[in-house]
Amino acid sequence: PTPHDATDRGRGRLIVLAGPTAVGKGTIAEYVRTHFPAVWFSVSMTTRRPRPGEVDGVHYHFVEDHEFDRLVEAGQFLEHAVVHGAAKYGTPRGPVERVISSGRDALLEIDLQGARQVRETWPDALFVFLAPPSWDELVRRLVGRGTEGEAERERRLATARAELAAQSEFDEVVVNDDVRRASEELVSLMRSGRADR
Ligand code: 5GP
Repeated sequence: PTPHDATDRGRGRLIVLAGPTAVGKGTIAEYVRTHFPAVWFSVSMTTRRPRPGEVDGVHYHFVEDHEFDRLVEAGQFLEHAVVHGAAKYGTPRGPVERVISSGRDALLEIDLQGARQVRETWPDALFVFLAPPSWDELVRRLVGRGTEGEAERERRLATARAELAAQSEFDEVVVNDDVRRASEELVSLMRSGRADR
């Protein structure tokens, strides 16, 4: 469709960014936020506890389990999943739909299960997988950040293995060998996505 297509006119684009634990999604997202402020970032809901420095409503909306389940029942999520066999995470539907309707692009940083759900309901989104330069480098980054204990690290690495195996499901794969280079590649993918609509 061209930019003048009546069905598409003025709508923003949905960008889904997924990738394994510790690949650097947060750092890349931060870079994009600074250098590409036109994009709106979805704030997910989660039942996990905040880490030091995380702010409710900024990094996540932190909610209790029963509140999360109530929102699931009410159909308030665009997608939701249990991640790393532990906490629940979900993308609140309303804000994303409002932003896209207003003509602004919206970015979701979610896991593979969530990306698959969005693919079902929003097939024209741009699906980008952020990959590590190598498995060893991924392990190094996870150990290096030191935010998880041994058992949690093992759980995350098991998930990461499965996620890496599914990268061919995505429209684009960006290798995070260097934050700036990878961020710029992502930004240029997002830009070209707009231009050819
Ligand atoms: P963390 O606990 O380290 O902040 O996030 C763990 C994982 O949950 C990451 O892989 C992240 O992409 C994923 N995640 C964060 N928000 C959402 C969400 O709203 N939906 C889904 N499906 N996954 C999410």
